[in-house]
Formats: sequence, C-alpha cells, structure tokens
Amino acid sequence: MKVLLMGTGGADGIPALYGSDRVSKVARANGGKDLRTRSAALIDATLKLDLGPDTLSQVHRFGIDARDWSAVFFTHSDEDHLCLSEIQYGMFPFVDDEKLDYTIYGNEIVCQLIRHRYPEWPIDLIELKSYVPVVHEEYHVTPIKATHKGDEECHNFIVEKDGRKLLYATDTGFYRDEVFDFLAGREIDALVVECSEGFQKTPYIGHMDIAQCVELVERLRANGALISDARVVTTHHAAGGDATHDELVAALKPHDIEAGFDGFSFDV
Ligand SMILES: [Zn+2]
Repeated sequence: MKVLLMGTGGADGIPALYGSDRVSKVARANGGKDLRTRSAALIDATLKLDLGPDTLSQVHRFGIDARDWSAVFFTHSDEDHLCLSEIQYGMFPFVDDEKLDYTIYGNEIVCQLIRHRYPEWPIDLIELKSYVPVVHEEYHVTPIKATHKGDEECHNFIVEKDGRKLLYATDTGFYRDEVFDFLAGREIDALVVECSEGFQKTPYIGHMDIAQCVELVERLRANGALISDARVVTTHHAAGGDATHDELVAALKPHDIEAGFDGFSFDV
C-alpha cells in the first residue's frame, strides 16, 4: 500500500488560522514542513481517510484526482475531519453523476450527520461498529476505538491489503486497555499516530503529547501489535503543542518515530 499524508495539522492547522503563538509565527516565516493543513490521508490513490475543510487545496497541491476515490472512511465527526459541504460536489448538479462515486464509511454520528444534510441524495453509506471489520474491494478495514470524545465512538483504522497492515490512528488519545488487548500480536507493519499536543500536555484526554505518543508506541511494540521494525509516523500536530517540525524530528527520532508532514508518503 502507498500511504500519502495529505494533511498533518490539528483542527486549526499550522499556522493556526488566527494564531499568534510561536509555532504559527515560525510557520508563517519558514513555510515548508511547518505548514500543516487539517489531517487526512490517502491509500493507493483510492481509499480516502477523512475529508476535511482543506481537501480541495490538498488535492491541488499533490496532484490527486478525487475521481479515483472508491471510499471515504471517516474517523469521527469533528469538522476538521468531516466537512459535510465537500461531499455535495461529487453529485449532480456539480457533476453529471447522479450518484456519489465513492462509498462512505463512518460511525453512527457521521452517518446521521450525512443523512441529515443529504436526506434525498444517492450516497452509499455504511455504518461502522468498533472491532467489526468491513471489506472494501481488496481492503479489509477494522475500526478500533480511539479515546477521543466521551459522546462519540471515534475510530482509528487497521487497513489491510495483501497481508500488509497499516494502523491509521489520528485523534487517538491514549488507548484504553481493551484496545491494547485487541491489537496485541497483530504484527502491524506501519503506524500513523497523532501527536497533537507536542511539548504542551493539556488536561484534555482526547489528544496525546510527545511523551504519551512515545509511551503508546512502545506499548504497541512490546505487545506485538507492531512488528519490530514497523514504521511509525506522526500526524495531527497542533500549533498549541509548541513544537516546530525540526523540534518534533529531534524529540521523536531517538524513539524511532518519524515526524510526519503534509505530503509525506511511504509504502507499507
Ligand atoms: Zn482532529
């Protein structure tokens, strides 16, 4: 599988839309890897993970053709991941197709929001349940429970094809024991994991800072969830975490974790 991180920023991106923080200032001055759009990914040009408000700019920047997408999997309903208005452009009258070209997968709340917004529109919508795998074309996708919100079952995804496995874990929070147990021994080949809070842990349990991210990765390595040389790449970095890209690289490298950036791509 070929994985492209289309966006690696938190909800307000970097530079944050109205941010006067240090990291936003550095990003405005330096550009490059310090610029982060809202988190999203693409697998093999066909499987889209989340569809946020920066989708169009990401498609332009990376030369992606959205007509190649066969599915969009939503992790949860937060607006940096689910931009409802972007869905309509895949249907008549914006295009000739009466029906949306791709299948949408999401949790109960994601499905409710889409049905409410598009009650009469022809959309294939499949509701995901935690730990219940779905088969989409040659991919097996298993939603697992993130620790992100109390009022919504947010998902991370194990995506498997041809015996290779990726765990896409954004808006993760530190996993509950049941999730570590579920993942134990699965020998996943690569992990994309959130590191929203950088050097600045907040009381919010729905996101992780660097220390928690490292702890989570070490636990997944120790219990066999990850193969010993699994590639680990971060995403969903917030300006409030007070970590520039170079600082993230320096902090994560000793733990064999790579700091992701918009446009980072790798094979699994
Ligand atoms: Zn988010």
